[in-house]
Amino acid sequence: MTDTSLETSLVKILGGRTASAIEKAFGYTSVAQLLSHYPRRYASKGELTALAHLPKGETVTIVAEVRDVRERSMRNKRGSIFEVKITDGTGILTLTFFNQSWRAKELHVGTRAIFSGKVSEYRGSYQLTHPMYELFDDHETDADNKASRFVDTPIPIYPATGTVTSWSLQRSIKLIFESLPSDLTTIPDPVPLQVRLEESMLTHGQALKQIHQPQATGEWEAARDALRFQEAFLLQTALLERRAALAQQAATPRPPREGGILQRFDSQLSFTLTDDQRAVGQQITDDLSGSHPMNRLVQGEVGSGKTLVALRAMLQVAESGGQAALLAPTEVLASQHLRSIVRTLGPDLAAELAPVLITGQIGAAERKRAMLAVASGGSRIVIGTHALMSDKMQFFDLGLVVVDEQHRFGVEQREALRAKAQTAPHTVVLTATPIPRTVAMTVFGDLDVSTIRQLPAGRAGITSHVVPLADKPGWINRAWVRVSEELQQGRQAFVVCPAISPPEESAPITQLPELEAGAEVLAESAEEAQGEVKVKLATVEETLAMLHEHPLFVDTPIAGLHGAMPGEEKDATMQAFAAGEIKLLVATTVIEVGVDVPNASTMVVLNADRFGVSQLHQLRGRVGRGSVPGLCLFVTEAPAATTARERVDAVASTLDGFELAQVDLELRREGDVLGTSQAGGKSSLKLLRVVRDSAIIEHARSLAQSVLDEDPTLAGHGFLREAIDSRLDDETREFLGKS
Ligand code: ADP
Ligand code: MG
Repeated sequence: MTDTSLETSLVKILGGRTASAIEKAFGYTSVAQLLSHYPRRYASKGELTALAHLPKGETVTIVAEVRDVRERSMRNKRGSIFEVKITDGTGILTLTFFNQSWRAKELHVGTRAIFSGKVSEYRGSYQLTHPMYELFDDHETDADNKASRFVDTPIPIYPATGTVTSWSLQRSIKLIFESLPSDLTTIPDPVPLQVRLEESMLTHGQALKQIHQPQATGEWEAARDALRFQEAFLLQTALLERRAALAQQAATPRPPREGGILQRFDSQLSFTLTDDQRAVGQQITDDLSGSHPMNRLVQGEVGSGKTLVALRAMLQVAESGGQAALLAPTEVLASQHLRSIVRTLGPDLAAELAPVLITGQIGAAERKRAMLAVASGGSRIVIGTHALMSDKMQFFDLGLVVVDEQHRFGVEQREALRAKAQTAPHTVVLTATPIPRTVAMTVFGDLDVSTIRQLPAGRAGITSHVVPLADKPGWINRAWVRVSEELQQGRQAFVVCPAISPPEESAPITQLPELEAGAEVLAESAEEAQGEVKVKLATVEETLAMLHEHPLFVDTPIAGLHGAMPGEEKDATMQAFAAGEIKLLVATTVIEVGVDVPNASTMVVLNADRFGVSQLHQLRGRVGRGSVPGLCLFVTEAPAATTARERVDAVASTLDGFELAQVDLELRREGDVLGTSQAGGKSSLKLLRVVRDSAIIEHARSLAQSVLDEDPTLAGHGFLREAIDSRLDDETREFLGKS
């Protein structure tokens, strides 16, 4: 009998050298970790892999046939070069070996092998220098024709590195299976038996075996399906469990009162709520009246009036003396929220509820006063940045936490604020990024979701245009003319730049211009991503200087706004822009979220292709918010038919955020979509793709729900319990809350 299990350390089975190479390359130390390193794809011995599109600089694994071998001596030195040309029918690649003429014994014309190495370029053609390879034995001609029997066995091709190759992984995994119990069904399976039978799926052990050592294509397909389902099932079980735990907590009911604050507010409102605002408002009213905490995500199109929905929830909580805290991602946004909330409340309600602002940048005396008002209960509406989470911050009776623009905050932060209440507070999370249903289910699986699709009536709409400088360099002037025309009509405009200031002249080539804190600027090419070319991005500084000099804007009050400015200055600039004193604002993505200046009609986005799809959509949402029609000009140097250009074209072609969210998902990789801290951790989402696998996720969720219905603590499902508690890595556990 063997005592190897999934927990066994790799050293024990593979020995120190191999184990440490694997740990260094991938960080794996246990059998379970290595076995969850799934093949990237499968090759068959008959398959020819495209040599035509080799990625330069990357380590590749290819199946090919030797077409030509020759040996020559080196020109200037002693020694020989053994050169092998291999082909897969789509292209030819040269393998180069220095002083290894003995290779001629292994590599003959017609030999087939699996080769691995790093692609480099020499005199205009691609080559692998000293590649590793493993020969196929298909020249064997035994009587029983072993070769032909195995010719269709899929060969797993693993994500590999220069030191740990695909087939060394294959060999290590083979050793592991040799030492595991031969009856693989004894390997603990987190998916409960009844579920597995219902789905007629492989057991965990069988699936691991077949994904690594399939005898036929159908085998790895079945294994992949089982493991993919398992990921979805584990994640959904964990999320549903957390949701149930939250729902069990007691909360103070905060019902609305006849003739109370909320009703007074509604009756003085200068506009009527949209149907969606009304419907979501009703859900929130009901949730707040209950004795368990509300945990609700309100997602809605940019400008759909989510803040108003949140404010009404705050008023309902204030009804009974409770306090609401609104957490905003930036200073600019927090102080704008304060101003607009005070304005919307009107003088009487504002005096009664005494909204205060708490951020890291306000003066010490003022902050002390504000904190006192919060601790005494005198202030019932508290607006702030992460400063709200400081230890010194105390609430008198925190009843509601509103998190604006959730994608900027981790769950830990939401939790830190919630922890300031005596009893669990109600929570509303607002997000402007429309999220496809299954993503919401996966990322926010612990929240109920409400959606606001309608925009308030009377919006004049936004027109978007691409300004393609690659084909039409002169159009940049027309863009500035359009801006000045808008300004002449008394309107205001934004110019958005990806960077703040240019790098020093003498700076090394790898230095980027100064970017907005947390900003992600997409690279144009692999060379650029690796810092091998100098990046020319529009900066706030240079653009500001250029526009100051520009004949069209001689009398125009222009200002710059970016995250590196002191808080007071940012605030003053934003207020001056809101008041119409500044006409043209040159900014970074600090204005991306929430900024609400209805008179701003026009936006020019420079280097638009450097922004992500949803970021562009968010940015555009800053114009066309009032009764003046919006105009958005996306300036790009990206040539037509590149992915960069596709992103910009997509945003220009529609105003529908839900459609764009879908496009965004298609153009990005999964990790970018969920964010590493939200992806459920590296170890738990390997095969699952939230968009493609939406049906699997939904199905897994309903099965997870029925398991939890019968066994809420999973006491009778030990392996599932264990898998949830231990297999999810730290990041995931943080995401799921430590409860
Ligand atoms: P977002 O959903 O992007 O946060 P806001 O809450 O900032 O949107 O609302 C955008 C603007 O629309 C604000 O000026 C707000 O006062 C206004 N607004 C909200 N609801 C309505 C409505 N029902 N009718 C007209 N204007 C509204
Ligand atoms: Mg908002």
